[in-house]
Amino acid sequence: MNPFLVNVADLVGRPGARRRERVEGRLAEPVTVVDSTLRTEVPVVVDTLLEWVSDGLLATGTADGAWDGPCRRCLRPVAGMLHVDFQELFEPVPRDGESYPLGHDRVDLEPLARESLVLDLPLVPLCRDDCRGLCPTCGADLNEGDCQCPPAGGDTRWAALDGLNLSGDD
Ligand SMILES: [Zn+2]
Ligand SMILES: [Zn+2]
Repeated sequence: MNPFLVNVADLVGRPGARRRERVEGRLAEPVTVVDSTLRTEVPVVVDTLLEWVSDGLLATGTADGAWDGPCRRCLRPVAGMLHVDFQELFEPVPRDGESYPLGHDRVDLEPLARESLVLDLPLVPLCRDDCRGLCPTCGADLNEGDCQCPPAGGDTRWAALDGLNLSGDD
């Protein structure tokens, strides 16, 4: 059973009717953007006010979740929490990219939570702000100490490494 499915029969068609709803559950599938992944093993929590407005059900609230992925500079695993605010409309005839479907007096908060959290995924995850990354020449993890290569010119090597596809074969 989908824990994000909420019955809203008591709100539908009643202007001003409102109710607070808190649901918690695991996403059916992980979502990955670049290298950051919205995790499925940590429950997502949706806390929202549901309110009937003229053309649908307005959901205003917050979603909490968790992400993980490799550090962009040194590839160590990094994980963190996500907390986002949202305000979205559920309509009987949803508009693509604009609103979510309201069907059979029920709304599914899972797509709303997933899409809101995905927007908050870090695109450049770092194990720490001053991560020194890998040496571009020998691949040594510079967080564990300097390698024997000649200096590559300070901060520019971070910028170069951040733009590099580290999983490529170049
Ligand atoms: Zn790192
Ligand atoms: Zn090196």
